[in-house]
Amino acid sequence: MSWEDNVRKVVPYVAGEQPKDQDVIKLNTNENPYPPSPKVAAVIQGFDCDILRRYPDSDVSALVDALAERHGLDREQVFVGVGSDDVLAMSFLTFFQGKKPILFPDITYSFYDVWADLYRIPYEQQPLDETFRIKKEDYFRENGGIVIANPNAPTGVASKRSVLEEIVGANPDSVVVIDEAYVDFGGESCVPLIEKYDNLLVVQTFSKSRSMAGMRIGYAMGSRKLIGCLNDVKFAFNSYTMGAVAIAAGVASVEDEAYFAETTARVVATRERTKRELARLGFVFPDAKTNFIFAAHRSVPAQEIFDALRGNRMYVRHWNKPRIADHLRISIGTDEEMDKVLDFLESYLNGR
Ligand SMILES: *Cc1c(COP(=O)(O)O)cnc(C)c1O
Repeated sequence: MSWEDNVRKVVPYVAGEQPKDQDVIKLNTNENPYPPSPKVAAVIQGFDCDILRRYPDSDVSALVDALAERHGLDREQVFVGVGSDDVLAMSFLTFFQGKKPILFPDITYSFYDVWADLYRIPYEQQPLDETFRIKKEDYFRENGGIVIANPNAPTGVASKRSVLEEIVGANPDSVVVIDEAYVDFGGESCVPLIEKYDNLLVVQTFSKSRSMAGMRIGYAMGSRKLIGCLNDVKFAFNSYTMGAVAIAAGVASVEDEAYFAETTARVVATRERTKRELARLGFVFPDAKTNFIFAAHRSVPAQEIFDALRGNRMYVRHWNKPRIADHLRISIGTDEEMDKVLDFLESYLNGR
């Protein structure tokens, strides 16, 4: 017997590399290439540090109210946390306590199986079809909960709201979590379904479309009942998840809708242009509705392209996993960054 027998054993999630070297083109973690709203910068620069003597508002009212207003909901329908990873982990802990397996796609955000293992939640992965689409019938069986990223990561494929509504409607006895980390880049949000289904939880983040991955803000929207359950677990775990600076910065971001609309549109325009260029260079990919493209080359192995890019200080993401080892996930950077990567790919592929 040793203390090690009493340790919770779990294989952790592996995030994309964060190179110390700033002088790289970093397209491996779906960060936004543009800075947060100037209103966020102003709030942080003008922040009165005396406020830090006090504990922050454990209800995070200012940010909850701003988000509720933006999405046309009541404050009782919004829950905020330290990035959507925090909100999702809290949701797994809160809603997936049954004995039946929870369901999610075989190719999706690779944190879901890690949380399931951490909390000892049984799960069954449902295979996407050959075009990386979810098959709704896979979710019409007994389960202890469902989690679907829409648009999905790392594929970039979006499901229609009507398809997800069928899944939510067919599972009134399960909580269905829709992870909308990328929805602002062209997906169809399930937020309009919240009033109709009390078992639907929609999760969004400030990390991608709001350029605030470093601030750690995520949130969930759902029925008053679901949000109440999340708050009970949160206040049984850590009352003060969000710092005062993050709360103030988050509010400033939500209040600058024009900047948000402009920068997300810019990322989308760059993505569409990048799609045309990648196709010209012999890549194939599902139609991405995200700030990344999941591309395979018709003839050159992904690992080779990944190594060549990395050797030239261009970071993308590659997984040596079944079904996706041929693909590279390329985040959308600035036009200038994409031009450098595309120029490199063109000469690399031609010179091979
Ligand atoms: C990036 C991402 C998240 C987590 O984002 P946070 O930075 O923790 O808000 C959650 N789900 C998916 C699918 C993501 O890609």
